[in-house]
Amino acid sequence: MSKLNTNYLNLKENYLFAKISEEKKKYIENNPQKKIIDLSIGDVTLPLTDTIISGINKGLDILSKKETFKGYPPSSGHTFLKEEIIKKDYANIKLSTDEIFISDSSKSDICHILDIFDTGISVAMENPVYPVYLDSNIIRNNNISFIKDKETFLKSNPKVDIIYICSPNNPTGDIWKKELLKKYVDYAIKNDIIIFFDSAYESFITSSDTVHSIYEIDGAKKVAVEFRSFSKSAGYTPLRLAYTIVPFEITLISSLGRKINLNTIFAHLKDIKYNGPSFLSEYGIYELYKMNNLDETKKNIKYYLENVKILSDYFVSTGQKSDSSINSPYIWIKCKDNMDSWDYFYYLLNNYGIIGSPGVGFGICGEKYFRLTGFSSRENTIEAIERLKGSI
Ligand code: PLP
Repeated sequence: MSKLNTNYLNLKENYLFAKISEEKKKYIENNPQKKIIDLSIGDVTLPLTDTIISGINKGLDILSKKETFKGYPPSSGHTFLKEEIIKKDYANIKLSTDEIFISDSSKSDICHILDIFDTGISVAMENPVYPVYLDSNIIRNNNISFIKDKETFLKSNPKVDIIYICSPNNPTGDIWKKELLKKYVDYAIKNDIIIFFDSAYESFITSSDTVHSIYEIDGAKKVAVEFRSFSKSAGYTPLRLAYTIVPFEITLISSLGRKINLNTIFAHLKDIKYNGPSFLSEYGIYELYKMNNLDETKKNIKYYLENVKILSDYFVSTGQKSDSSINSPYIWIKCKDNMDSWDYFYYLLNNYGIIGSPGVGFGICGEKYFRLTGFSSRENTIEAIERLKGSI
């Protein structure tokens, strides 16, 4: 009989979103007359912007004609889009198109890149954080340590191979300040560590004391891989598009002590595992960037951020949120009266008909915390707060 990779049995069943929707369904069945407000969603709700739609139509036109039709794309995406990405997202950073790998999803890239590394390596990540980092390392039997306090973590002189940095963090919305990132980059250079910098929410940053790209930090190109996604920045969750930057400078060591270039191996991995992103998805973003119409997607982000502000102002006033900074589509609050996060879930659902995400689903350090999202409609966001205030 074929043998299982038994590391899969070590995965903790991530029942967070499945359980949330099960509880939502149950509540609706038992309370058919009540309106639920769902603030648990980690997905965009506004439609695609006009320029993106026009780009997709232009792409379709190209594919509709014999003379212009294109088949498989290059496995790292088309150069025409990479050039626009360099111009618009990395205007002050020196990058080559061969350092950019366009794909359908940051989630897949974050998981696949681990294939390049030996199994049983040591990794460090924040807690709470995007659960994919944890699961993708469990299935490779890697040693996982948690960065509970990012200011003091380096003082313990950690001996790890990879450090994951999620900034702004999902779920907490925390950003890594520039000086702190500089310390991590310097430490990584000194200790031959690779940083995986996930900036899926960079377009939501409003603070000025952080970076949009890790490459704004001196020396980062020697050690950092950056993951960016169009899912939330351009409302692309149904279309799928993302990219990963793997600088030429990063090297790995083989078991025979030979230095190997990470970019070269990542390009091989892409050729083996992937046949390139959808041309239409690429063309939508290409048009947006080429026409310089990023204000359209920024308008949508502003809408979500205004929802977050409405939520944030209320929870700052109740003392459940300590400051009013907003750098992500989520707010992270302390559960009322020190409740466990699932107890608070039922409290909000049964008393106010509001659904959110229990913090413990993002890691053990998320216990007693709760995530609410700005991805709902303005009306629902306002109504949720009115319900909490007891005014309706
Ligand atoms: N990284 C973080 C921190 C996320 O929260 C998400 C999605 O929610 C992703 C990556 C996944 O991005 P994509 O939709 O491109 O797979």
